[in-house]
Amino acid sequence: MSDVRRGLPPVHAVLDDPGLSVWIERRGREVVVEQVRETLAQLRAQGRAAGIAEVVARVAAALESDRAGLRRVINATGILIHTGLGRAPLGAEIARQVAEAAERYCALEFDLDSGTRGRRATHVAQLLADLTGAEAAVVVNNNAAATLLTLRVLAAGREVIVSRGQLIEIGGSYRLPDVFEASGARLREVGTTNKTRLSDYSDAIQPSTAGLLRVHASNFRIVGFTEEVAIGALAALAHDRGLWCVDDIGSGALAPGLPPGIGPREPTIRGSLAAGADLVLCSGDKLLGGPQCGLILGRADLIAQISVDPMMRALRVDKLTLAALEAVLRLARSRSQAVKAIPLWSLLATPVEQLDHRGQRLAARWNAQNVSALVTSSEAYLGGGTTPDQALPSRAVRLDPPFPGRFPTADHLARALRLGEPPVVARVHGGSVWLDLRSVFPDEDVILERAVLAQLGDDRPSTG
Ligand SMILES: *Cc1c(COP(=O)(O)O)cnc(C)c1O
Repeated sequence: MSDVRRGLPPVHAVLDDPGLSVWIERRGREVVVEQVRETLAQLRAQGRAAGIAEVVARVAAALESDRAGLRRVINATGILIHTGLGRAPLGAEIARQVAEAAERYCALEFDLDSGTRGRRATHVAQLLADLTGAEAAVVVNNNAAATLLTLRVLAAGREVIVSRGQLIEIGGSYRLPDVFEASGARLREVGTTNKTRLSDYSDAIQPSTAGLLRVHASNFRIVGFTEEVAIGALAALAHDRGLWCVDDIGSGALAPGLPPGIGPREPTIRGSLAAGADLVLCSGDKLLGGPQCGLILGRADLIAQISVDPMMRALRVDKLTLAALEAVLRLARSRSQAVKAIPLWSLLATPVEQLDHRGQRLAARWNAQNVSALVTSSEAYLGGGTTPDQALPSRAVRLDPPFPGRFPTADHLARALRLGEPPVVARVHGGSVWLDLRSVFPDEDVILERAVLAQLGDDRPSTG
């Protein structure tokens, strides 16, 4: 007996239902076809008839219960380096190179020329040297690891001088004094919260001093009556007294203009090394737009000491991270290529007129379905502890109240969007839901359009 005679729809009719298109997009056609076949087989075995809508609902429920915890989301917050949403997205080109390294064996620690054991990350170190002027470089798990390892190797049991204006906390679990504690180095605070002078450092130097550390106040700004010592002057003082100077710049911009659109106050690896820092520390998944990792760059003799420390093995990165980092650095050699293929750089470089155009198109589509939506100027931010006071010009589509009865407030609507498929993370501001397009990729507009219509549209499925 055919499925039609049994009262079941054919596979292709189920697949063509718009209710499954988002699943085909997310999981691929093959997975969805497989699930449709299985669902129909179950109904057949139970001798049950079912219409397309019921079969679609069953297929969607099965796919839903099977989805990953680490789910893809649409980031409509306007915060580009959102730590909660995985910081820098890697995009198709970089992901392809990661997949290539992951699928089969790769030359991770192997010298193909001699056929013997080689060193990990030599390619990456060479790329970093070319891009930043660093003599040498080593890659660890994150910037917290870079700081921990550097302090441990260069200063365990000795003092490192830091300005009181730079004792930062990043995201709760990273507090500089705690990192010192864990490293075995002693923190010597000098100056005050708002003012630290060169003489504060020089007066504090004593025989047990190992070096001077500058930390970029990357997620806050002290304004008003302030004074800070520039890295060049700090490095000169350190060298004059036979000490080293380390600069934790945080965000990891490679050089001025890399990535584009970063303000002049943001330190860069190249700039800091050129000013005299012996080592620069930074994250790989902030402004560099790469995978989570920490970079230590600078003097070859110091990097060599760090590389052989037993703790290095505990903090080093795996082949997937190295593959992603190498891909990012290769792309970064050409600015035009980088802006195309490093997603964070693309988002940063998008002209606001383009965001406006996309916003108008979305708003028009929603308005046509009686959803009140308005394009408005907005301010996006880098986030992730980067340039807290540098707003990026952006456009948001604002969904204004009153909303349908089941959404008493914008928070209720924002929650429904987060629980949709795929989840959309929006910003709630002034009683409205803001969908900021600076952090939304152009090919995600269509998903955003459907996600909003699924909640607010006229022909919203009644089972919503
Ligand atoms: C972000 C940041 C860190 C921590 O970096 P992770 O890579 O998140 O561990 C440390 N120092 C500064 C200055 C930072 O901005």
